[in-house]
Amino acid sequence: MEWLKHDERLYLQSVPMTECGGIVHGFTCKSGGVSTGKITGLNLGFRVEDDPASVLENYRLVAEDLGFPMESAVLARQTHTDNIRLVTKADAGKGLVRESDIFDTDGLMTEEKGIPLVVFTADCVPILLYDPRHPAVAAIHAGWRGTEQKIGGKAVRMMQERFGSKPEDILVAIGPSIGLCHFAFGEDAPEHFSMEFCKPNPAGGYWVDLWAMNKKQLLSQGILEEHIDIAEICTVCHEDVFYSYRTHREHTGRQAAIIILK
Ligand SMILES: [Zn+2]
Repeated sequence: MEWLKHDERLYLQSVPMTECGGIVHGFTCKSGGVSTGKITGLNLGFRVEDDPASVLENYRLVAEDLGFPMESAVLARQTHTDNIRLVTKADAGKGLVRESDIFDTDGLMTEEKGIPLVVFTADCVPILLYDPRHPAVAAIHAGWRGTEQKIGGKAVRMMQERFGSKPEDILVAIGPSIGLCHFAFGEDAPEHFSMEFCKPNPAGGYWVDLWAMNKKQLLSQGILEEHIDIAEICTVCHEDVFYSYRTHREHTGRQAAIIILK
């Protein structure tokens, strides 16, 4: 991945996706936004203690930096499900500039051009998918519950079914999120995750590797290993750069993972 900077605003972009062309994409960071008060910076989440006008202005800045039509962006009401919505032109603007009916949804996908798909996170795993051959994109929010429910793997299957995508053509980018170094889970980790992704924590319970778990799901659906680009940046280790719920609790805004078919 590589960094892109506009004023104080930083973005991470997957190099293979950028080189492939045909899309605009990026993972946002915390600095350079207009939010002030309990939550500062480039907060892109509306369901936190921030002024909606500030959040909207932050979206405007990001849209200008990356170059996409903000008024068409689609945001879901994320609730840690494995539900993925097929987004059409009729959905343009939902959740940002107009009322939305996209609830209980943690993934968005579309083959329409010019519709930015947005998922937001603060430690959870954001996954972007791009099929350049049958042009289509998806944005997935995979917290530990979504990862346990294999929402990433489901996204690949849905792209095959809905768009005729071939897994070997799909490029994937896994953005900054909580790493094995910080994701402490309780004694019940084995009830939720395969032990190959859990490491005993001397303090009790386990450390869990959500990146490896999502990667394995993608591989098992036929995504090529060389097409999976993992940022390997832990949002807790780098809580100065990213919003981290585990670190700052109610003072946490949301960063976004955004992808648009041009
Ligand atoms: Zn860490």
